[in-house]
Order: sequence, then C-alpha cells, then structure tokens
Amino acid sequence: MRLSKLHIVTLRDDPADAELPSHRLLARGGYIVKAASGLYTYGPLMWRTMKKITAIVNEEITAEGGIEVMMPIMHPRELWESSGRWDRYVADGILFTLKDSKGADFCLGPTHEEVITSYADQTITSYKQLPVNLYQIQDKFRDEIRPRYGLLRGREFIMMDAYSFDADQAGLDESYAAMDRAYRRIFTRCGVSFRSVQADAGAIGGSGSEEFMVIAEAGEDAILYCEESGYAANVEKADSIPAEAPPCSEAVEMEKTATPDVRTVEQLEAFFDLPAAAMAKTVLYKATWAEEEALIAVMMRGDLNINEVKLTNALDCLSLELAEDQAIVKLTGAEVGFAGPVGLDEKVRLLADKTLEGRTNLLTGCNETGFHCLNVNAGRDFPAPAYHDLREAKAGELSPDGKGPLLEARGIEVGHIFKLGDKYSTAMKASFIGENGKPAPFVMGCYGIGVSRTAQSAVEQGHDDKGIVWPAAIAPFEVAVAIVDVRKEDQVEVGERLYAELQAAGVDVCLDDRKVRAGAKFKDLELLGFPVQVTAGRGVSEGKVEVTLRATGERVEVLAEEACAHVQAFLEKA
Ligand code: ATP
Ligand code: MG
Repeated sequence: MRLSKLHIVTLRDDPADAELPSHRLLARGGYIVKAASGLYTYGPLMWRTMKKITAIVNEEITAEGGIEVMMPIMHPRELWESSGRWDRYVADGILFTLKDSKGADFCLGPTHEEVITSYADQTITSYKQLPVNLYQIQDKFRDEIRPRYGLLRGREFIMMDAYSFDADQAGLDESYAAMDRAYRRIFTRCGVSFRSVQADAGAIGGSGSEEFMVIAEAGEDAILYCEESGYAANVEKADSIPAEAPPCSEAVEMEKTATPDVRTVEQLEAFFDLPAAAMAKTVLYKATWAEEEALIAVMMRGDLNINEVKLTNALDCLSLELAEDQAIVKLTGAEVGFAGPVGLDEKVRLLADKTLEGRTNLLTGCNETGFHCLNVNAGRDFPAPAYHDLREAKAGELSPDGKGPLLEARGIEVGHIFKLGDKYSTAMKASFIGENGKPAPFVMGCYGIGVSRTAQSAVEQGHDDKGIVWPAAIAPFEVAVAIVDVRKEDQVEVGERLYAELQAAGVDVCLDDRKVRAGAKFKDLELLGFPVQVTAGRGVSEGKVEVTLRATGERVEVLAEEACAHVQAFLEKA
C-alpha cells in the first residue's frame, strides 16, 4: 500500500476532549475522527488494525469450535420483554430505542442474549445438536452516561459476542474453559499485557465470571492480585483477610457518652483512645428496587469500607446511593455523624458486615446528636442484623488464600466471560429435548470482547512522547519504507525495490511515497507508530538505507540488499 494513496491526515494539535495519551495519539494520527460524542469514524489505518484484531479473534474462537453468525442490530421490544430486561435497561438509560412507522418499539442491540436465545430455541430441538457456541463481530450500541476516552467508552463500538449452549452444567464448564483458553491466546497474540480476574456476576447471578484486563494506569477498574498465589479479582468482587480486630471481651453494660462534635471514625479514635476496629460505623443508603425504594442501614467495622457492589448484590436491588443528609436527619432524629443501630427505627432494614459477627462491646452512634454508645452488643441492644460480606478488600491485606499480600493495579476491561446458566432460557422458555425425552432449558454462557476498546488499549500501553508504538501483530502495517525525498530518483528506485522485496517476503509493508518534507514525514511515521521503518535517504548514493525499530529507536545503517534480513530481525523483537 502506498501512503500517498491512503488518505493519511495527521493533526498537529491534540483534540480538546482527549484526556488520555491513547485518545490523543489516535486522534492526531487520523486513526479516529469524531462524528459525535462516543461515535467515531475509523480511518483507513485504524480499520486495518481492527481487521487484524478481528482476524485473530476469528481464528482463536473458531479454533475452540465457535461458529460465526450475524444477528440483527435492531431488536423488537417483545424479545427484551420476554427476558424481563426491557424496563431495567430503559431505566438505566443505556438502551437506544426507536419506533417503526407503525409505532412498534425497537432497540439497538447493546448485547444479544435475547436474540441468540430466540435463535437457539428455533433451531435447536435435540440434545444431539449440543453443544453449540455461536458468535458474531458487530457494532453494539449503548447510551453510556459518560462516553469518553475515545474508543475506550464509545456509544457505538465493535464487540465480539459469543453464546454457548449446553445440555448441562458440566457442558457449560467445558464451553467456558474453551473460551477462557481462546481469550488468553487472543490477548497474547494482540501483544497487550493483561490479567484475568474474578469478576462480579451482578444481578445476572450465575456461577462464574472472569474479566480480562489490560493493565494501564488509565483503567477504570481497580484490581487486586497476589503474586504468591495467583489470586486476582476486580475490586468489586475481591475478598481478602483483613487486619485482625482487638480481642473481644465479655459483654458489659451499654454506656451512652456525650461526644459533642465528634463524628468521624478518626475523631472517635482520638476521643475514646480506641482503635477504629473496635467501632462499628453505620452508613445509611437509599436502595431502589423495581417496585419500591427504601432507606437501609449498614454496619461496618470502623477501620474497613463498604463495597457497594457487594451491598447491591446482598440487597438484590437495582441501584444504590448514599442517603441524603436530610433523609438521615429525618430518620435518625440526629445530625449526620451520629447514626447507629441503637434505637434505630425498626422498619429500617439493618445489614452488617461479617467481620462484626460475634463482636462484643462495640462503639457505635446512637441516633442522638452529640452522643455515642460504648459497649453496644447486637441482639441485646438492638435486633441482630443480617450478616453479609459487604467489605471492600484493599491492597496490603492478605489474599483470601492467606499466601501473600494483595497488590493493586488498574485495568481496562477488554473481555468478559460469563456462566449464565438457564436464566435467559428459562425466562424465554427456550428448551431442547434432553436424552431422557423431556424438555430442558439450555445451559448458557456468554462471552464478550471489546474489539475497538482492545485496539485503543494497545496504544494506551504502547506509546512514547513521539507517538504510538504498535504491537507488530495489530499494527496497521508492520513496516514502512520511507522515501525521504520523492524528487530524488535514486531514493525512489531503492525505496520501490525494497517495498517490492518486503512484499514478496510476506511482510505487511507500506511505502511512504508522500510528497512531504523529510522532517514532517519522520514525525508522522513516529506518530503513526509502525513497528519498523526503512529509510531510503541520502545514504542510497552509497547503496545504504537505515532500518529503525520504533519501540526502542535502535537504528542500523545497512546495505540495501541486506535490509530485508534486518527488517525481519527487528520484527522478531517488535
Ligand atoms: P464496562 O464495565 O466497561 O461498562 P461492561 O462490563 O458493561 O463494560 P460487557 O457487557 O461485559 O461490558 O461487554 C463486553 C465487552 O465490551 C467489555 O468487556 C468491553 O471490552 C466492551 N465494551 C463494553 N462497553 C463498551 C463501550 N462503551 N465502549 C467500548 N467497548 C465497550
Ligand atoms: Mg463486563
């Protein structure tokens, strides 16, 4: 491919809304051009990268038995009502909806469980047809609250989504393991550094879920991992062994104590000369379910924090937010900072973290401005709460297997695999006839890869102050042959010859034959980030060209006849 014919348009300035290096560089390189918030045109170079990633995805999913299909982007409302998801997705604001000329409702697919379950129901009648794993690579639509970071959080983006259908749980376990293997090979081949982590299964439930995270400072997800044991989890899901609390003593009488203006855990520590682990803080939330909304109270050991994802799961609610000050004052009859379990309105559901189970003589608020209670005991001074694991694990705590400390990193979620079980097939009455002659719901798994997000993640990991440094496998071109001055015949002649030679050797090479100044050409090529560059410049008068490895800047001057071998050697390193 000749860059003079490829519509290469680079910018000198960063777009105003680009916060991350990867977004800035892709925009400046003309890889992506914004049409509207969260909507981008992929330029010719970006599209080459997308096709390389999709080729890798296709190969590896196919190698594990995946079968490619293509489903409609537009889905009828009835299908989403049959799974019970229409209202929830509309309420969350994530769904793009539209009407046809007859007034019927449709949405643009944010994911395809409903469509594929309906397809499976119509095409799979017997256990003899199972297992089946169907996938597609297609644009998805989500009206994200905050589209940002370029392709990392778009409103239209490219996803590979796969769905496995099995007759039983053992089959699902196998299908899931196969996708896990495929994902590891896909991200390894894409040249990104990643980690797979246990993920929250959320409201969907199910028996297993893993996310694949590209490790990057800019990642929106926090992950905790342990070098010693290999344990790794999204912080939303992570467990740990927390620091020990002081030993419990025999329950003694509760003591109400004046604590004027002492509200926070730190202030209480100083006031009572007690460690935070001997206290229970009480946090009030407003939880929302489909039919109702209620204030709930959560007790957590003073030195630990609440994980709101775990709390949402424990409550099985749709959403959760901290109660507003006014609501707290109204409920507790006290100013903010004095809420506690003692004397709390009995109608308020009270949950407590497992670390508080069996603890005696706690220091808590007592719903009276200016007072706290010492020696508070559950079941005696207030009705015993429901104990759940509601605690946020933190770096420094021990891994749940006790083998070593947890470390923290940030990640960009590029893939997600999920054991769904029969949630959709039961809701949508999608079944097959089993070996015993009876109908049974499909046991399903679902699997997603953010193809466009993966492309940008590679740039977030691979760049320097001059531009992008693509992993060779997904670079738009592996090699650029640059003719420094296209008016010089000898340079053109050598450049063209090397271009042909590299093509013949099976290298994915482009020829930079653009009529631009040498300085601008070099700057562009650094920005665009092809892994290896061959430069046909003044040296050609002595039969020489330069070969440069973009990642390190390593450069050799070699005879043109030997350039091909050097390119291959550099590509090995890229
Ligand atoms: P997130 O938590 O980042 O919003 P998600 O968990 O909702 O993502 P999934 O439903 O698991 O996303 O979708 C599968 C994959 O699609 C994700 O792992 C991610 O790589 C990609 N993806 C999801 N949302 C977007 C988006 N708005 N833009 C680009 N890629 C996305
Ligand atoms: Mg996900």
